[in-house]
Amino acid sequence: MQDNRILLNDSEKNRYNRQMIMFDWGEEGQIKLKKATVFIAGAGGLGSSVAIYLASAGVGCIRICDSGKVELSNLNRQILYTDDDIGKKKVLSAAQTLSKINPNIKIVHLFEKIEKGNISKLAGNAQIIIDCLDNFQTRYIVNEYAVNAGRPFIHTGVYGMAGQITFIFSPETPCLECVFPDAPPPEILPVVGTTAGIMGCLEAQETLKYLTGRGTLLKNRLIVLDGDNLTFEELHLEKSPSCKICSSKFN
Ligand SMILES: [Zn+2]
Repeated sequence: MQDNRILLNDSEKNRYNRQMIMFDWGEEGQIKLKKATVFIAGAGGLGSSVAIYLASAGVGCIRICDSGKVELSNLNRQILYTDDDIGKKKVLSAAQTLSKINPNIKIVHLFEKIEKGNISKLAGNAQIIIDCLDNFQTRYIVNEYAVNAGRPFIHTGVYGMAGQITFIFSPETPCLECVFPDAPPPEILPVVGTTAGIMGCLEAQETLKYLTGRGTLLKNRLIVLDGDNLTFEELHLEKSPSCKICSSKFN
């Protein structure tokens, strides 16, 4: 078993000590993270939060994809970037920052627009796909890919001080189109940086749980954050028998 050859060096044991001392994480859990590859779809506000925490936690390979360049109006929430990055490719700046946060991990930066024809190549061998997007058109592409490839897909969206998150793993759970069959009209979404930070942290934490095999994942449940009143509402989700993406897989 070649997996047994992956070990942690002393520096890594020191860096990750405070999570490794947790019950049922240990060196074994940390090695699972070291071996893992994740795909972060979008390097904006959510992507910043997810990528920073997964890099800090020691996820071995982070594939991060975005076709955008840093703009001044991004900086209220996209904490991977500074004024010095304005005009640069987001994924390139992100990769540089993430490599400074944790030089032990591999960052694959993908400066591409996600489309049906390239999603498989972009996701590569990632074990989990993390939605850090800002539009449903692209989310549907990623969702369909995740369903067909049998990969877990964490969906999150933010709007102002509100957010939502669910863990999709078809056919065990509904897919994104079961829950949201119709895309809301495209618009420039209002986003407070803290909301993107909170929801990105939740995505990162679900990812760590999945990769280390601990806890109860957010399957078949949608958590809705009302940040103005600081409430989390939990909704039960069900598969749609008429879903054009996944229904053929569970009949
Ligand atoms: Zn579905």
